[in-house]
Amino acid sequence: MICDNITTENGVLYFAGQNTVELARKYGTPLYLLDEDKIREKCRIYKKAFTTHFGSQAQPLFASKANCFKRLYEIMKEENMGIDVVSSGEIYTAKLAGFDLSQAYFHGNNKTDQDIAYAMDCGVGYFVADNVEEVKAVEKEAASRGIVQKMLLRLTPGIDPHTYAAIATGKVDSKFGSAIETGQAEEIVTYTLRQSHIRLMGYHCHVGSQIFGEDIFERTAEVMLTFSAEMRRKHDFTAPVLDLGGGYGVRYTQDDPVLDIEEKVKEVATAIKETCRRLELPLPEIHMEPGRSIVADGGMTLYTVGTVKKIPGYKNYVSVDGSMADHIRFALYGSRYTCLLASKMSEPCEFKAALVGRCCESGDIIQEDVMFPKTVGRGDTVAVCTTGAYHYSMASNYNRLPKPPVVMLSGGDSYVAVKRERLEDLCRNDV
Ligand SMILES: *Cc1c(COP(=O)(O)O)cnc(C)c1O
Repeated sequence: MICDNITTENGVLYFAGQNTVELARKYGTPLYLLDEDKIREKCRIYKKAFTTHFGSQAQPLFASKANCFKRLYEIMKEENMGIDVVSSGEIYTAKLAGFDLSQAYFHGNNKTDQDIAYAMDCGVGYFVADNVEEVKAVEKEAASRGIVQKMLLRLTPGIDPHTYAAIATGKVDSKFGSAIETGQAEEIVTYTLRQSHIRLMGYHCHVGSQIFGEDIFERTAEVMLTFSAEMRRKHDFTAPVLDLGGGYGVRYTQDDPVLDIEEKVKEVATAIKETCRRLELPLPEIHMEPGRSIVADGGMTLYTVGTVKKIPGYKNYVSVDGSMADHIRFALYGSRYTCLLASKMSEPCEFKAALVGRCCESGDIIQEDVMFPKTVGRGDTVAVCTTGAYHYSMASNYNRLPKPPVVMLSGGDSYVAVKRERLEDLCRNDV
């Protein structure tokens, strides 16, 4: 199996040690499952690797956009993770969960004035400014409150991580950040240093997602540290913090490798220490912002099969009760997933079909070319693996479909962390 929390017993798929067909019956479908123990394990791997290899000041921050609801922030709080947030909505949710927002980093390429004010109301520790205009807006709000706001600057180091173009963000031509190559990075640094209500704490970058490539973070760190050394030489500013962003890849199918996070962090740390020595820079406080690699393989989506359509000489379709509204990544990027017929795991898979949703949109495909047992039919349970990241957080109400619930699995028990939307919820704001 693609992850050690997925097993089979008596022809039925088990996730986190629990019978998925029974879970589907108990909570209904479509259903998001999250393996809480797996998520905690991932947090601990990051925490330990950071302390061991970067020192006690270093901090992994969970990237909220990967998955966001109250209970998850409680878990992040219990695991002593920092968080990054990108909207007032994420800040509000973290606050409701009692998360200490001084440990939150506020990202985004276009924070509104209302966002900036709300984040300051809530005491968000760090703003990560994307461009000079944003620095201006933060300075103005901080000045009006008579406070000094801590800030990182998002820079674009010009590294292409060779993944899908749509999730590569560290190249020069990007809507995110200020480019080192064009001189805009230096401009934003000197501009920020002149502000009296902002304390510049360092630099941030994020080069992309689903990264397996050997030395992407090493190369990125090299560019960022070289820039930092240049700023020290020219402007007498030594950045205390370097945030390398998120992006470690996860295993969606058998073709994807398994990353050893501890080993990866160790390699990056060795390279960073070496570069710092060469540039005669003190080792900065290192941050990274894993999202996907914390939550993805803790997740699974369950569906119930409805129509099975065979078009002789063409193609077969297996339709489920979910859709692109709860699983958008295939439509967005053609992302590959492992799909299993949870209720018939011991039958041979000899029937090829597209697994499709119920939305009125021909692009509403969960996955192409899935192999099912020949007996697949109405009432069977389908599992889509590794859906803990960018599923619930990207879910919509397209076709007026209620969002599925999130059920957490821990130590052999299950509980609802986010309730299934009801029809009334859909009309909550209709006047
Ligand atoms: C998306 C994003 C992350 C998380 O990326 P993953 O691939 O989920 O690890 C972290 N930081 C920033 C700024 C991001 O935009």
